[in-house]
Amino acid sequence: MTTIFTKIIEKQIPADILFEDERVLAFKDISPQAPIHFLVIPKKEIATTNDISAEDEAVVGYMHRIAAKVAKDFGVDQQGYRTVMNCNADGGQTVYHIHLHVLAGKPLGWPPY
Ligand code: 5GP
Repeated sequence: MTTIFTKIIEKQIPADILFEDERVLAFKDISPQAPIHFLVIPKKEIATTNDISAEDEAVVGYMHRIAAKVAKDFGVDQQGYRTVMNCNADGGQTVYHIHLHVLAGKPLGWPPY
């Protein structure tokens, strides 16, 4: 299913893009929940983490490498950051195109409830 993230990939709506190549896109979250909050998404439409197939394993791993690269670009790789992928209603997922949240810039609370 096409979501607003496909429109961002296709440049139909603007986003503050931090990294892009043929496989993934990283951009700032429009509603940041930490001083630094960006998303890493695959260009392939994958609705939820339940839908990750064997052929998607490489791009999902690559999303984590790009998260670390962009965190380093922000200078927070050593201080630390949190990566989160929400799945379905109880997970808090609102956009059904998988995305890795990357949150940083302050000590983050745990657990998240
Ligand atoms: P979820 O709740 O699905 O885990 O996360 C979706 C995220 O996408 C939210 O943090 C929300 O702020 C972000 N988001 C939703 N629509 C847009 C948009 O149009 N542009 C950007 N940059 N972020 C968006």
